Amino acid sequence: MRQTARLGRLAGIPIGVHWSVFVIMLLLVQGLASVILPGGARGYATAVYWGVAVVVAALFLAALLAHELGHALVARHYGVRVRGITLWMLGGMSELDGEPPHARADLLIALAGPVVSLAGAGVFAAGAAVASASGAGPLAVTGLAWLAVVNGILGVFNLLPGAPLDGGRVLAAVLWWVWRDRAAARRAAGRVGMVLGALLITAGLLELLLAANLSGLWLMVLGWFVASAARAEATDVMLRKTLAGVRVGDVMTAPAACGYSSQSVADFVATVARRHPHRIFPVLDLDGRLVGLVSLTRLAKVSSTDRERTRLADVSAPVDRTRVLDPAVPLMDAAPAVLAGRLVPVVANGRLTGVVTPGDVARANELAQLGITPDRGGGDAATSGTYAPANRHE
Ligand SMILES: [Zn+2]
Repeated sequence: MRQTARLGRLAGIPIGVHWSVFVIMLLLVQGLASVILPGGARGYATAVYWGVAVVVAALFLAALLAHELGHALVARHYGVRVRGITLWMLGGMSELDGEPPHARADLLIALAGPVVSLAGAGVFAAGAAVASASGAGPLAVTGLAWLAVVNGILGVFNLLPGAPLDGGRVLAAVLWWVWRDRAAARRAAGRVGMVLGALLITAGLLELLLAANLSGLWLMVLGWFVASAARAEATDVMLRKTLAGVRVGDVMTAPAACGYSSQSVADFVATVARRHPHRIFPVLDLDGRLVGLVSLTRLAKVSSTDRERTRLADVSAPVDRTRVLDPAVPLMDAAPAVLAGRLVPVVANGRLTGVVTPGDVARANELAQLGITPDRGGGDAATSGTYAPANRHE
């Protein structure tokens, strides 16, 4: 989940929002101002409803953030690094780096969020009761009561026992505790999550068709998200198991098809781009150092009349050094970036030794399931890869 905007830091944890949260907030403020608040408290001016709706929506966002902070702070307590918290369409997401040290930590990290939400529900309910008793007016009572209800729903819904929901993590932690096998526990929780997602989609569809209620659509989106995230979770666990011990250098495509910075676009297209199955290619300088990446989309923007005099250096994008891999890195650490659909350059001793593509990872996985490790037949990956532009032409 890419953060669209940074909000700042809380307890040292970077907080950001994804653009989808603005859409949801807009819908929420609209719903509160025109349906929920007028339904609970009649007779106020329209502007008052909208003003209170904004405050209530902001409190809801704060409650979502508190839920995620619950996860994040407990995780940090157990030595798991927290990269950040992102709020988005379907709630919040804490990005944790690394694994919890034991099943109990895993369980407490998972439980912390729903506990915060349920506690929030209690606080807002108490607030509504106090406001009602002290004659604060029906508008404040309605707003606080709504916050109590949604926090309650948030807490309970998140405890549904299917990964990636918190309840799925709770289930995985408990199974880990009982079975003493974390991979098996996560796989089981992922399977339950896929079933849960399918049930949510079905429930949403029924609500949409039988009750003609549009909120069924939201339930379907949520179900789809749960199902696909659960599938990703199960895949991740399986990959971790099958790819244990496999390194980037074992599976990379080497030598990599690449161009060099002073080469013309016309020459590169004729000799390299059209002959190789990639959509992105590394660009090297004359010393064989990686200086950029060029994509077919980028090449297509050069008009055919300009291809002769345009150099690859003019159209290549600089390389993000954090997206370059060392051949000795375990493939599993690199797999998420690669499987996200990118071609990742592999560099050793400052030289390009190969590239890893989603196909390479998939192939390694399938070979591992056959019980064999990839053999590229080209000798040791780390030493065979001096692929200088000079020997690019066959
Ligand atoms: Zn949570």
